Amino acid sequence: MPLHETAPKLTPEQYERNFADIKPAMSVRQAAIEAARCLYCFDAPCTIACPTHIDVPAFIKKIPTGNLLGSARVILSANILGESCGRVCPTEVLCEGACVMHEKGETPIEIGRLQRYAVDYVRDRKIVLFLRGSPNGKRVACIGAGPASLACAAELAKWGYDVTIFDSNKLPGGLNTYGIAAYKTRSTDSLREVEMIRDLGVQFRQQVQVGRDISFSDLEKQFDVIFIGVGLGETRELKVPGEDLRGVYGAMEFIEKTKVQDFSEVETGRRVACIGAGNTAVDVVTAARRLGAETVYLIYRRSERDVPAFAYEVELAKKDEVVFLWQTQPVRVLGQNGLVTGLECVRTRPGSPEGKGRRDAQPVPGTEFTLEVDMVVGAVGQKPVTEFLRAVSGLEINSNGTVQINERNQTGNAKYFAGGDCTNGGKEVVDAVAEGMAAARGLDAWLGSPRGATKNPTA
Ligand SMILES: Cc1cc2nc3c(=O)[nH]c(=O)nc-3n(C[C@H](O)[C@H](O)[C@H](O)COP(=O)(O)OP(=O)(O)OC[C@H]3O[C@@H](n4cnc5c(N)ncnc54)[C@H](O)[C@@H]3O)c2cc1C
Ligand code: SF4
Repeated sequence: MPLHETAPKLTPEQYERNFADIKPAMSVRQAAIEAARCLYCFDAPCTIACPTHIDVPAFIKKIPTGNLLGSARVILSANILGESCGRVCPTEVLCEGACVMHEKGETPIEIGRLQRYAVDYVRDRKIVLFLRGSPNGKRVACIGAGPASLACAAELAKWGYDVTIFDSNKLPGGLNTYGIAAYKTRSTDSLREVEMIRDLGVQFRQQVQVGRDISFSDLEKQFDVIFIGVGLGETRELKVPGEDLRGVYGAMEFIEKTKVQDFSEVETGRRVACIGAGNTAVDVVTAARRLGAETVYLIYRRSERDVPAFAYEVELAKKDEVVFLWQTQPVRVLGQNGLVTGLECVRTRPGSPEGKGRRDAQPVPGTEFTLEVDMVVGAVGQKPVTEFLRAVSGLEINSNGTVQINERNQTGNAKYFAGGDCTNGGKEVVDAVAEGMAAARGLDAWLGSPRGATKNPTA
């Protein structure tokens, strides 16, 4: 059954233009000029600000001399997913946000794009920088094939561990493949990066849901250690009447379609309302506009200054001419013949302070109004998927659904380590990478560092 009214179809060229990289690849000349601007700071603040602590001045310094292989080695040794991080990192609040150029009133060095330039050079030419270490006799299972598990697995494979990743999705890569906005990275980029991990000897078992298709006791028998990198799950419900109407989506469900289907096949309303104001909500509204929706509303119950999304993400939505409705919340989804036709909303005002002093939003009686829309998307956070881990004895789940870990990413059951969104509650790809690598170091130390000889083809 179609939506009440759908967005007009665009030409394939228009879709590609609309979803073109917002941080496009640099030319040789652009990269050389940008790299030459770097001051190669001692104790560089960009390196400190990067959760994987890539030696940014070291990799940038190699670019003007054409040593791109050396540059990529610096990046990938610290962060094996440097390819995707160069595309998707919120650099404005990480490395580039810390750049000393800000103090001089100048534009910060484009670290993310330079990183992409160096890594793409080796990936485009299929240059192998790392090989699997010789076998050390230890086996590790990773649950989930997202950035946390990929980083953990790659690190371990280099040290000679035999690693198998179990993932419930059809394709590996986690949200790099299924979630991050298509104008930052495509699923094909993510899958290319996964191939690099596979080339290290890591095995992938897709469409296997741990806890359902394979038991913990089977995993424990077959593997010395188990790493948990299951991320977060589906979008939370809006909990308003009419949520079951055709045309109401969860943000993850809608965004996933933009990643794995042709843009022309993604069903989008002519008028769309998205509820929430986090980075995911921005991804929803910008995708809807770029798919051709004529009017897109972003509805948030607090004021603009309370918005959880990064400021530059909100700016992106403003450029896409999204209509912001601050201090507004949904009351019910309206429909005809089972299809969404509207959204009743009410204005809000700040209520009494909540526990930590933040004021809740209170509906203002009599301010109800109706938006005519064909599609409603909820972007009010993701649910945890850690409930199934309660079957693991000793492993503790916190009240917010995250997995409890110690300083070396080990859970209450010594055989299980964890990292990424399922432990930090939802951060960025680079944080998941840092935590996956920390868990690899933690479990390696716990096993007494049984390293195989590390091979390095280009040393
Ligand atoms: C819409 C959206 C946009 C984002 N945009 C950005 C961005 O622009 N930049 C950025 O840096 N970060 C972004 N993020 C955050 C980033 O995607 C995550 O922080 C990162 O992917 C977390 O990695 P992870 O490995 O912990 O989990 P995930 O990437 O979620 O991977 C977890 C994997 O585990 C699998 N799994 C779950 N349960 C099981 C089970 N029982 N058995 C087997 N497999 C299982 C899942 O299928 C999934 O493949 C975004 C997130 C969202 C939701
Ligand atoms: S990984 Fe991300 S935060 Fe770190 S230097 Fe690269 S772009 Fe910046």
